[in-house]
Amino acid sequence: MREKRDRVVVIGGGIAGLSAGIYALRAGFDCAIYEKNAIPGGECIGWNRKGFHIDNCIHWLTGTKKGTGLYDVWKTVGALSDDTEYAPIDSFYSSVCNGQIVTLWNDLERTEREFLAVAPEDEEEIRKFIRYVEYSKQCIYPAEKPMEMWGIRDYISMGKEMADFPKVMKELGKSSIEDYSKRFRSPILRKLLCDYLPKEYGAISLFVSYASIADGNGKVPMGASLQLSLRMEKKFKELGGEIFYQTGVEEIMIERKRAVGVKLSDGRLMEADYIIPAIDFYPLFHKLLPAKYMPKSLRGAYETPEDYPVTSGFQVAYAVDVDFSCRETVFVDIEPLKVGKHTFDRMYIKAYGYDPLCVKDGRQVIQTCITQSDEDYKYWKGLSGEEYRETKDRLVQEITRRIAEKYPELEGKLEVLDAWTPLTYERYCGAYHGGYMSFITKPASKKVKIKGKLKGIDNLYLAGQWTTSPGGLPVAVTSGKFAVQRIRKSQKRSIEI
Ligand SMILES: Cc1cc2nc3c(=O)[nH]c(=O)nc-3n(C[C@H](O)[C@H](O)[C@H](O)COP(=O)(O)OP(=O)(O)OC[C@H]3O[C@@H](n4cnc5c(N)ncnc54)[C@H](O)[C@@H]3O)c2cc1C
Repeated sequence: MREKRDRVVVIGGGIAGLSAGIYALRAGFDCAIYEKNAIPGGECIGWNRKGFHIDNCIHWLTGTKKGTGLYDVWKTVGALSDDTEYAPIDSFYSSVCNGQIVTLWNDLERTEREFLAVAPEDEEEIRKFIRYVEYSKQCIYPAEKPMEMWGIRDYISMGKEMADFPKVMKELGKSSIEDYSKRFRSPILRKLLCDYLPKEYGAISLFVSYASIADGNGKVPMGASLQLSLRMEKKFKELGGEIFYQTGVEEIMIERKRAVGVKLSDGRLMEADYIIPAIDFYPLFHKLLPAKYMPKSLRGAYETPEDYPVTSGFQVAYAVDVDFSCRETVFVDIEPLKVGKHTFDRMYIKAYGYDPLCVKDGRQVIQTCITQSDEDYKYWKGLSGEEYRETKDRLVQEITRRIAEKYPELEGKLEVLDAWTPLTYERYCGAYHGGYMSFITKPASKKVKIKGKLKGIDNLYLAGQWTTSPGGLPVAVTSGKFAVQRIRKSQKRSIEI
């Protein structure tokens, strides 16, 4: 007879939940994942409309560089392999302004040359920018174990690997992207720096993101985001895990400081020895668990959204001819457009023609996104069902007209595939304010500190992108591994899994 193993129940089948499930099985536990949707992936997905695939997540995947700890994690969970093919994308993004275009190329020398050509007056700052991106390549996401398990050797080795990065931290650690952009005199460089990541983010995020891409550590795997999630699901099942779809968890049952099981949407109770919630923390602490378990700093963040904002988007996808060529992600000026509470004068177009999955009968998918804030989320939330549909339709028309103005060759050829808002992410993933990622790390705000465990519950371990700001796929995938390592540590067993 098989020896009885401890049973781990994972709530949520996004990247964090799938990772937790895979590591739980590798660690010798039985494991079941309960996911409220019909497919895995959570925010890391895509969907089909009118025969086209809309890929809706990976713009860059940190951890694609072999030899890094994070690459090993992606490989262990089956998301990447040594044979993974990557999209032939040679830049982070481009910005157009007054007829000029500048690009953050993967090749830093090329970026430097181009910046100097458009803005010789900023030479000193440009050279420093390139040098600091180079230094930021040293900032590798720690994926081996949770920080509280680090010993002195781990800190020494990190110190050695990051010899120059502290210079960037020292100079820019307290600046937002917007503050930083003001060091440049050139209007196009200022725009470029603020175009992609929310400009309230710490400037460091821009350096680290661009550095991963320039270092070959932030590529886009071919085959789109949903397929990456499906590869993880396959790995989980191959290891013997069970995943139950359309099976939401309504409540986590707590008895005498222990999480004893979960109550499912169909009323069944499932027992567990350990529980790993890998869902957005807002529904976790407002629905599945009594609010008294909510960490203080998280409560503070929810109470002051102006200090702890999140970002989402109003997005539209189209089918256009494959001949349409623009840079893969390009930001352009537009006639001012009011979406939600704010008016926007920049917008991006991203063309997906590089991936055969997003191409059909000589046509490719392109997408655009207007960044949305907490206030915009509230605006959408306040609309009636009919107003919501009308507003979406009107904005789609407005956006379509603006794209055709910028690219006259697309006039009359933009077939709308779909449009979605922050409320889509809330409905589909339970995402707080429709957020793509966790709280924005504003340089002035105190970090939201989430421990891997909750006070008052002995056997519940947190996972998901909300465990560490600013979230994203690397946080999600490592958080699943870290949750299982914490369980093993509590059992006084090896954390090598
Ligand atoms: C448009 C977009 C672009 C992005 N681009 C990038 C990028 O380029 N790079 C990057 O690193 N990150 C990117 N991200 C962020 C990334 O997708 C997320 O950080 C990551 O997918 C979060 O994973 P997660 O498992 O923590 O949470 P989620 O993906 O939210 O997964 C949680 C899962 O739990 C399920 N769930 C919720 N409540 C329950 C319940 N009660 N019972 C059962 N199941 C439940 C949900 O349905 C969901 O499947 C992007 C996100 C978006 C939306």
